[in-house]
Amino acid sequence: MLLGGIVKTSTLDYPSLLSAVIFTRGCNFHCPFCHNIDLVRLPRNQSDTREPKETREARKTKDTKDKREKRVQKAHAQIELDPKEPDHGPWPQVEEALAFLAKRRGLLDGVVVSGGEPTIQPDLPDFLAAIKALGYPIKLDTNGSNPEVIENLWHLGLVDYLAVDLKCLPQNYSYFTNDPFISSKISQTIDLVLSSGRNAEFRTTCLAPFIDRDIISDLARLAAGPIPLFLQRYRPERVLNPSFMAPYPQPSQTDLEAFRLLASRYLSCYLR
Ligand code: SF4
Repeated sequence: MLLGGIVKTSTLDYPSLLSAVIFTRGCNFHCPFCHNIDLVRLPRNQSDTREPKETREARKTKDTKDKREKRVQKAHAQIELDPKEPDHGPWPQVEEALAFLAKRRGLLDGVVVSGGEPTIQPDLPDFLAAIKALGYPIKLDTNGSNPEVIENLWHLGLVDYLAVDLKCLPQNYSYFTNDPFISSKISQTIDLVLSSGRNAEFRTTCLAPFIDRDIISDLARLAAGPIPLFLQRYRPERVLNPSFMAPYPQPSQTDLEAFRLLASRYLSCYLR
């Protein structure tokens, strides 16, 4: 496991529980509005860009190269090639994190594992099992790109609460990754979460060009069901790709409330 930090106490990250938050390093996305810059820059190439099982046979069409896609690819290239980001280590080690959690038994109610993107780390099940062995319930934050990993973690009983980002409509995820199969992976994750009967939430950061009134409506329709959707504000400070984000204003409170009302037609929706 590559860890990126530990927040020793949080009342905000795990619903109703006093928790510690453990951040993993590395992400398979490059969201222009990401604030976890130091966690995302490091190991870049752990993304599983294989076609998911369900679509290996079915996929027939090729991605079109329209203007928007070219612009997105240019934005990806700018991020990939930026050599200036410093390494903010030393990073916490797994043993250190587990020792901390062992010491806090009885004082903390739960543990949040966040990122970066935790599901790209091959030894995530072992790490979560070690946390479970200390008696903690676990909340996992994910960008939803690895439905097979999520399913396996649930199967192993290693995740008690799942938070899945819905960044935009599945067909528009080329803003965030070059994975040609991401659309079907995100759709698969949404279906998995909706049919799971597990404790979970969807989360969406609200800002153009990823979210507008039509998009939030379509997204909520896609995720309609028992899982709540939390709408989050965009904070423009120190983001991964400021030049990409520069033309897009922060949505107003009125915009956010309008998004919430539109989404509430299909599922329980809250502003966070
Ligand atoms: S998925 Fe999360 S951690 Fe990864 S780049 Fe996007 S916002 Fe940052």
